[in-house]
Amino acid sequence: MDSIRKGLRSGDIEKDTYERLTCSSCGDELGTKNDPDEIGIVRHCPGCGEQWRKIG
Ligand SMILES: [Zn+2]
Repeated sequence: MDSIRKGLRSGDIEKDTYERLTCSSCGDELGTKNDPDEIGIVRHCPGCGEQWRKIG
């Protein structure tokens, strides 16, 4: 799973005018998932199911 930082850098994720993270392919706002099995917070796109991890 890529980090959010990497997703932003590669253009897979964009920030809208309200600083919300959105999926570049779908334009959907990313949801937040707090999975106890994963380290940190996982953001996911409800459109395509892509996931990015927030580190730190
Ligand atoms: Zn998407």
